[in-house]
Amino acid sequence: MEQLLQRYHKIRREADSYRAELICVSKYASDRAVEALIAAGVRDFGESRPQQLRDRAQRWPECRWYMIGPLQRNKAKYIARYAAGWVSVESLECAEEVVRRRDDMVPPLEVMLQINCFGLTRQHGVAESAALELYKQLRHLPQLQVVGLMAMVPPGEDVTLCVQMLKRLKAEVATPSMRHICVGMSHDYHQALAAGSTVIRVGSALFGATH
Ligand SMILES: *Cc1c(COP(=O)(O)O)cnc(C)c1O
Repeated sequence: MEQLLQRYHKIRREADSYRAELICVSKYASDRAVEALIAAGVRDFGESRPQQLRDRAQRWPECRWYMIGPLQRNKAKYIARYAAGWVSVESLECAEEVVRRRDDMVPPLEVMLQINCFGLTRQHGVAESAALELYKQLRHLPQLQVVGLMAMVPPGEDVTLCVQMLKRLKAEVATPSMRHICVGMSHDYHQALAAGSTVIRVGSALFGATH
């Protein structure tokens, strides 16, 4: 746990030096490891499995639990009820399902569009050319606010190019609520921060290969 905290403080300092936010990706982390980070003051966690997000959000309601992975429509209810944000929106249908399941009395769910920067078929996300259209459709949904653009950069691809592409798209949208670029994981968060990403999502570099 001591090493976990050392790694956390190092990554946190790096993110802070760029005034960027850090989502601690706990999808493979043990409850003990999560608990140690909460004790150190961490509140922002990322999960890719909706049921685990629900379970942890119920257990630790003082934290913000972000959905970071692909979402199937039949799991939309967990995100609607328990997620503080959803950074991997890639289809209107799924977003509509989340909205249908969301209580009208709570504030809008903050979401980001996942962009498939390199057009790779094995990658999730919408193509750059389809992103603005999806953004416009999502703007009409109540209970959802698009606050950023997210991408996953596979090893070997150029993270700086990807951040630049998302910055261009963000400038085209040009609304004040669209404020985040969420690129950068364990293998590439340094370059992503240097290129201007404002939110990084770090899992294995934080929790280690074994938890
Ligand atoms: C797992 C995951 C991460 C974190 O990946 P690491 O390489 O472990 O840092 C970030 N984003 C998404 C969408 C993920 O699924």
